[in-house]
Amino acid sequence: MWRRLSIKTVIALVAVALTWWVLARSFGVSGHDLKVIAYSCLRSNAVALAQPAPSTSPSVNLAHPKLLIVSFDGLRPDLALRADMPTFRSVLARGSYSFWARTTELSVTLPSHTSMLTGVTPARHGITFNDTQEGDYVKTPTLFAVAKQAGYSTACVAGKRKFVTLAVPGTCDFEWIQDEKSDRVVAQHAAEFIDLHAPDVLFVHLGAIDYTGHGPGWGTPEQIAAIEDADRALATLIDALKRRGVFDQTTMILSADHGGAGRTHGPDDARSRHIPWVIAGPGIRHNLDLTIFPDLVINTEDTFATACWALGITPPANIDGKIIPVGESEGELIKVIPSTGQVRRGGSGVGETGVAIKEDHAVVEKAHAGDPRPEGLSVRP
Ligand SMILES: [Zn+2]
Repeated sequence: MWRRLSIKTVIALVAVALTWWVLARSFGVSGHDLKVIAYSCLRSNAVALAQPAPSTSPSVNLAHPKLLIVSFDGLRPDLALRADMPTFRSVLARGSYSFWARTTELSVTLPSHTSMLTGVTPARHGITFNDTQEGDYVKTPTLFAVAKQAGYSTACVAGKRKFVTLAVPGTCDFEWIQDEKSDRVVAQHAAEFIDLHAPDVLFVHLGAIDYTGHGPGWGTPEQIAAIEDADRALATLIDALKRRGVFDQTTMILSADHGGAGRTHGPDDARSRHIPWVIAGPGIRHNLDLTIFPDLVINTEDTFATACWALGITPPANIDGKIIPVGESEGELIKVIPSTGQVRRGGSGVGETGVAIKEDHAVVEKAHAGDPRPEGLSVRP
């Protein structure tokens, strides 16, 4: 490094001296001008050296579709409305979303994130503890595992050490999992992975909103400030994707593991159970409020299924999660079955009791005479 800096600096100084000599002789450039020119040369040299060199790691495949999941630990949906979150809102505007998604019944961090990243409920993945248990790994296949099996590179960055349970050996190419209360620091580590490795699948957990909730409390000015910090952390990640040239091919999912009230969160409390769910990226419908599907309930397990879909992976059979209908491709008609909340794709799109949505025109059609909605209701995003 020092050797590179020295050689480059010497070359820059020689170039500056030569330029000064030519300019001074031709146009009478002053000593002050020389200082400005010299500083500019040295600074641009330093900035160039500060940028990570393009990685030649075999894991970098810029042609792959990419996925970034950002989980804002403890972000209750209405607090995202109160806080100033310009970056979060910019993702909303170019994506599909609901502020009425649900986390697991337990509504605590590790079991809920395990459901988010495995597509099954805690009863099935068995991770019901919420503390750090080194070496106690989830048995159900994670998103990292299925993505890796499909040939994608994977990375996990988390601001709580207990996430080690999800980083099953051999499934994460890059990981940084520490108890870190600053989302800025967590995002910097994730951005470094993007700069150096451009992982195909990157999961980032930001813990500060939850840490603040357990301190001053949910909905306090301190927590609003933490939410705004988390939004800046999100901006750091997006900047890194743009700098690396992979932003346009990245599907982003923004969500949370639970909300909270007072200084805690847990089961049987609507304020803990509801989470935001936002998806944006190539082929994802813009500005689509998913509550236009009245029978569609988004559960955190659906993040796993929809992430698989975004990567072109068929989700494992018998998971609890479902693929959320957010694709904009022609002919992708969906039907939500009211009794189960399940989504059926394909077919005519008009069923006995279902709601049909023609994706390219975003027209919600009256499906049946028994449908309680007004005649001719149509919704355009
Ligand atoms: Zn918590």
